[in-house]
Amino acid sequence: MKSVAIIGAGPMGLICAYRLLQSGYKVAVYERDDRLGGMSASFDFDGLRIERYYHFICKSDATLLASMQEFGLQDKLHWRNTKMGFYHEGLLHRWGSPLDLLRFKKLTLFMKLRYAANILVVKNIRDWRKLDKKNAETWLKKWLGPHAYQLLWGSLLTYKFYDLRHNLSAAWIAARIRRVAQSRDSLFSECLGYIEGGSESFVNKLAEEVIRLGGTITLKAEVSTVTTANSRVEGVVVNGAAIAYDKVISTIPLPLVPPLIPGLSPAIVQKIKSIENIGVVCVILKLTRAFTDNFWMNVNDSRMEISGMIEYSNLNPLPEHVLYIPYYLPRTHPKFAYTDAEFLTEVKACLIQINPGFNESWVKAASVSRYGFAQPVCTPGFFEKLPSAVTNIEGLLIADTTYYYPEDRSMSESLKLGNTLAELARKQ
Ligand SMILES: Cc1cc2nc3c(=O)[nH]c(=O)nc-3n(C[C@H](O)[C@H](O)[C@H](O)COP(=O)(O)OP(=O)(O)OC[C@H]3O[C@@H](n4cnc5c(N)ncnc54)[C@H](O)[C@@H]3O)c2cc1C
Repeated sequence: MKSVAIIGAGPMGLICAYRLLQSGYKVAVYERDDRLGGMSASFDFDGLRIERYYHFICKSDATLLASMQEFGLQDKLHWRNTKMGFYHEGLLHRWGSPLDLLRFKKLTLFMKLRYAANILVVKNIRDWRKLDKKNAETWLKKWLGPHAYQLLWGSLLTYKFYDLRHNLSAAWIAARIRRVAQSRDSLFSECLGYIEGGSESFVNKLAEEVIRLGGTITLKAEVSTVTTANSRVEGVVVNGAAIAYDKVISTIPLPLVPPLIPGLSPAIVQKIKSIENIGVVCVILKLTRAFTDNFWMNVNDSRMEISGMIEYSNLNPLPEHVLYIPYYLPRTHPKFAYTDAEFLTEVKACLIQINPGFNESWVKAASVSRYGFAQPVCTPGFFEKLPSAVTNIEGLLIADTTYYYPEDRSMSESLKLGNTLAELARKQ
């Protein structure tokens, strides 16, 4: 029986483990964190189990929906019609439907038509390669014009990518527009999903299934080296102990891979090093009351360095009001080193600006989570920049959320890729 070590117990690593167990492999999953789930992991937020980072599901998340069915979790999936807001220079506007667009006074009718046409065209794109080499900023400006671009996208991209925003792939942006645009019941209502009990319900079930089929999952188990000899996998070193395996599959963020695998070819290392990643610092607040009735609120306001906030309890009717405020930041940005207290102070100042009735007494609990590799920066021509998941080392596969370009990171895409990795491992 062939043995496989999988590095990382996020959705990708776990589904890959499950598929290989189904095919008769002996599988061990190693996770350096103290919990399952990676970016989709939950934590105890003052008595409430909830994701460290906001999670919602779109109707186009086909692999997640199929997996929920496969594992008998379909009853835990709930859909709701959600509201969206757009806070622009001191005013909160309704956003997300054609009527909202028509009522929005900051754009001319012509600009609105261009915006709507962009969404309609993007929804029907079949071949991403046509957009792969195009620059997102140039492409969006061509569709919307410079004024509408600045108003609708300027702040979103600035506070997600900072200087890197000038060098993004149009295919990546278009895939994001499409994912959300496809999650609608009708032209007038956005419909998003959540998992009862959070992503954790799904991740835990997946882990249970891995163990039921005889796999092992070890937490607090950092893989420090993938050992190789004559360009063939020998095994892994976990918490200092060398363990032999026939195959190794890495699902950890790509930038962490080269130091782990000394035998990787210089060409692969070079490709990995050329891909930037953005970190995230995510503030989560438990409030005594609803902040707005929106689930998602884009923010474009010159007084605030945020691009939006997610009032999760307006999607998932939790007993508490929960608001996430993400700060996407390059890890080299000085703000990435701010203390939790500094982020909280800044967030509260933003909330008062948006709703002057807000005050400290609304906040029942607050927490801040950080992840250094939250978002790969997909630049024009990205298809060619990605190293192959099949490496120069026999028995070694590598992939992370970057590999489902042009799709944006999602649990669904990680599951799809985890399935593909298992297939590749079987063929190797
Ligand atoms: C702010 C934010 C919001 C998001 N919102 C959504 C959303 O609304 N909907 C959605 O579907 N998705 C969302 N996602 C994305 C989703 O969480 C990810 O796509 C998914 O979790 C990726 O899973 P993965 O298994 O591919 O990778 P990861 O989750 O990155 O898992 C990789 C694992 O590898 C582990 N690891 C790293 N190094 C080592 C090592 N040396 N040894 C052992 N283990 C190691 C890590 O600890 C981690 O657990 C969001 C992500 C973020 C950050």
